[in-house]
Amino acid sequence: MGLDALLDGMARILNEGASTTSYKWLLLWSVLDSAPVQLATGNGQSLDMRLVGESAIRAVQPQLREYPPLGRSLRQGSLPDDPLLYRRSDLVPDGVAWDLAQWPLPRIQHVPNGLVEVLWMQLPQWEAQLAKDRNSRIPRKLFSTDARGVPAIAMVDIALQSLVRLSPLVKPLIEIRWRDDVRRWNKSVATDDENWSIDRYLFPDSARISLAAPAVRDLKELQHHRCLWCGRELAGSATQTDHVVPWSRTLNNSVENLVVTDKRCNSVKSDRLISARLGRKWADHVNAHRQDLRSIARNHNLPTSPEESLAWLLSLTTTAVGDIDYFDVVHGEPVIRKAVGSQAWPIDRRWISLSP
Ligand SMILES: [Zn+2]
Repeated sequence: MGLDALLDGMARILNEGASTTSYKWLLLWSVLDSAPVQLATGNGQSLDMRLVGESAIRAVQPQLREYPPLGRSLRQGSLPDDPLLYRRSDLVPDGVAWDLAQWPLPRIQHVPNGLVEVLWMQLPQWEAQLAKDRNSRIPRKLFSTDARGVPAIAMVDIALQSLVRLSPLVKPLIEIRWRDDVRRWNKSVATDDENWSIDRYLFPDSARISLAAPAVRDLKELQHHRCLWCGRELAGSATQTDHVVPWSRTLNNSVENLVVTDKRCNSVKSDRLISARLGRKWADHVNAHRQDLRSIARNHNLPTSPEESLAWLLSLTTTAVGDIDYFDVVHGEPVIRKAVGSQAWPIDRRWISLSP
C-alpha cells in the first residue's frame, strides 16, 4: 500500500463515512497525532493505543469546559446522552485507549458501500463481530495487548510512515468535518458569537497558551540567557517562546518542546522544522537538562515528555517528502533553507534515549 492509496482511503472516510459522534474525528485526529511517536519509538508495525489515548486527551482538553454563550457543553453526537469521552471526569490514557479501540476504531473505516481497508489489519475479525451486533463493543480478546494490558493495533505495511506524511494535510480537513458536525448537532450556535467561535471552543490554539513570566525566566536561565538557535544574548523584552516541533504539527506544550529564542529567529522559523544541526543542539539541550526541565515543569504546571518531543522531530524529518523549507542558522544568521524530502536530516535515532 502506498501513499496514494492511503490518501484516497482517508478522503473516502472523510467524504463518505457516516458519523454519529465526534469520536470518529477525535480518533482519526489522535491516530495522526500519535503516529510520529510510534514510528520513532516502536517497530512501525503496530500502534500503541495508549499513545492514541494520550493524544485524544490532549485534543479534547478545550472541550472539557462549557461553551460560554450557552453555559453548557456542546452536543457532540446524534444521541442526547451518548457516552462521549470528554464528558468523563476520569480521563486516563488506558481507559480512553480501550474506549477508542472498542467503539469507534472498527467503525471509522465504514463507508456506504463497504469498508475502506487502508489503515489497520484486524478488520476481518472485527467485521464478523460487528455483523453480529452493530451496537456491541469489540471484545478485548480480538486485540493484542502489551505488558500493561493496553491494546495494540497491527498496522498495514507502511501505514504509519504514510500517516506521518499526510498528517499536516489531513488534520485541517478533519477539523473542518468535526466543526461541521458540531454545528449540525447544535443548531442554536449556527452563528458564531462574536467573542466565542466554535473553533476556539473545539480546538486548542497556541495563541491562547502563553507561558507565565516566571516559567520563561526559568527557561532563560537554563539557556544562560541566550537564544537556543543562534546563541545571541536575549534582551529582556524581545524574548519569545518557541515550540520546537511546531504547534501546527502536534499540540505539544511539554517543557522539552519549548525553548526561548530571540525575536529574529522566532519570526524566521515560524512553523518550520529545524535543520539536523539545530535538532542535534536541541536534543543535547534536552538530554543535558532532563532534571532541570522536569523541575521547571513541576514548578509551573507544564507537561513533560522528553522522548515524545524528540521522537516527533525524528519522525517528521525522516518521512519528509517533496520540497521542504526548513529553519537553520548560518554564521549566526537565521535562514530558511530548502531541501528535497528527508535528505537534509541525518538525524540519529540514538538521540531518543529512554535512559537519563
Ligand atoms: Zn536567535
